[in-house]
Amino acid sequence: RSKRRGRGQITVYSREIAQEMKRATQLEQALRNAIIADAVDVHFQPIVRISDGGVVGFEALARWIDADLGFVSPAVFVPLAEERGFIDALSETLLRKAAEAALSWPRELFLSFNLSSAQLMDPGTTETILATLARVGLDPYRLELEITETAVMTSADTAQRIITDLRQQGVRISLDDFGTGQSSLGRLRDFTFDKVKIDRAFVSRITTDRASEHIVKAIIAMCDGLNLAVVAEGIEEKADADKLNELGCAMGQGYYYGRPADSAATLRYLQEHYRDFMTIERA
Ligand code: C2E
Ligand code: MG
Ligand code: MG
Ligand code: MG
Repeated sequence: RSKRRGRGQITVYSREIAQEMKRATQLEQALRNAIIADAVDVHFQPIVRISDGGVVGFEALARWIDADLGFVSPAVFVPLAEERGFIDALSETLLRKAAEAALSWPRELFLSFNLSSAQLMDPGTTETILATLARVGLDPYRLELEITETAVMTSADTAQRIITDLRQQGVRISLDDFGTGQSSLGRLRDFTFDKVKIDRAFVSRITTDRASEHIVKAIIAMCDGLNLAVVAEGIEEKADADKLNELGCAMGQGYYYGRPADSAATLRYLQEHYRDFMTIERA
């Protein structure tokens, strides 16, 4: 009896697996088509000075709404593109669009762009990024690349090379989701970064959980000592911002300051939030 049930379960599981694989393949095809049709978009979320709320830059976040599948999260389609080997094509399109948008922002604002772990394993990444910037005409000094600790871990030598070469060209490197990946502290010693983004897992509990507050405090102190800039991610309430300001955290990002928005809405945001927007010099 147990044998029969066992066999039955195998049938059910393999059907589920087959369905899952079919779904992933459909998603892959739809995404490939969207890239070709230039239908994957990029939105921008403000990064601000916590002390006065002034905007200092924007993080680019990929957005894709498929006619049949609806909204698909980048947390789903970015890993899929990595797995299926076309993250390069996707990322190049996204960086081009993001850089084009950044051209109409005040020149002192930076563009922060997420790099996937697969790109940090590919020695061609440096050239692809610099070529895209050159084509669009965005100064490398205005670009920051967000990478995760886990991504740096997987291919340390190649990642190190890419980071060093890009920094030499003026691009800054920021460590994303800090505190949630592998071997955080060792990475900070061995690699050269410019900025650390404290994961929202700590930030969201900063006013209610003493442990989170202490962790954030320690990260800020460590970054001060290492001469790294700090951004707190996932600030949703004024109380979070006040607490972070009190702890000496210089920069922040989150729904409290602004949600990711398309390039037109981002320009409107700047008109409202950036002093002298109409008179300053652009890129
Ligand atoms: P991430 O780089 O850590 O981006 C921050 C995520 O937190 C974004 O989710 C953003 O919309 C969300 N967020 C911002 N403020 C708040 C807040 O106050 N509360 C909450 N609950 N969430 C907030 P999103 O856009 O869904 O992106 C998810 C992840 O997908 C990103 O995490 C990043 O790892 C990846 N991703 C997005 N766009 C790209 C891209 O162009 N290239 C690559 N390689 N990865 C991307
Ligand atoms: Mg990021
Ligand atoms: Mg993050
Ligand atoms: Mg994240």
